[in-house]
Amino acid sequence: MRQDWYCDEVIPGSVEVEVVAETATVLAFRPPRPGFGREHVIVVPKAHVGSLLDLEPDLAAEMMAVLQQTAAEVVARHGGCQVLTTLGDEQHNQHLHWHVAAGDGVARFVPTGGWNP
Ligand SMILES: [Zn+2]
Repeated sequence: MRQDWYCDEVIPGSVEVEVVAETATVLAFRPPRPGFGREHVIVVPKAHVGSLLDLEPDLAAEMMAVLQQTAAEVVARHGGCQVLTTLGDEQHNQHLHWHVAAGDGVARFVPTGGWNP
């Protein structure tokens, strides 16, 4: 079964979300229930794109501009944020989406073995 909450509900407008930014091809919004983090914004292409691996360069540039703007606003409010997308078995919703999240509940990438990136 296809799991695509974005094409099925968000983009057609059948679920209410708080729009943070919008262009002709990209939508940034707060989900009705935050998935993680104290603040959680999701950025998606309005047309179906399966994942980052299927993203065309023009749309990638527009997505990156919206991600920059969204992330800058979250950093200004919270002092930092995390921007991530998932692929393959880690991608539970089969429509390219980026999470911009801050605060408790975000994934912590803790270095191991003395490595300090
Ligand atoms: Zn889709």
